[in-house]
Amino acid sequence: MAYRITEDCVKCGACYFECPVGAISEGEDRYIIDPDKCTDCGICLDNYCPAWAILKVTPPGLTPS
Ligand code: SF4
Ligand code: SF4
Repeated sequence: MAYRITEDCVKCGACYFECPVGAISEGEDRYIIDPDKCTDCGICLDNYCPAWAILKVTPPGLTPS
């Protein structure tokens, strides 16, 4: 998993409509990213979230790029 949505999500749905591979779905209290579908394209992070709720997560052991 390289991208994650935090509790700051206000459920606007913008990322859901923009993810090119359909990796984002509506969860109970926030939208969630399916790590098996996410291709790490970064589109949702860079362009759409008004609440800055999408984070790039670096797996343990890897150096942030
Ligand atoms: S990084 Fe790309 S593939 Fe992953 S959830 Fe965001 S828009 Fe979808
Ligand atoms: S764009 Fe941001 S605030 Fe809107 S649903 Fe996605 S993560 Fe939540």
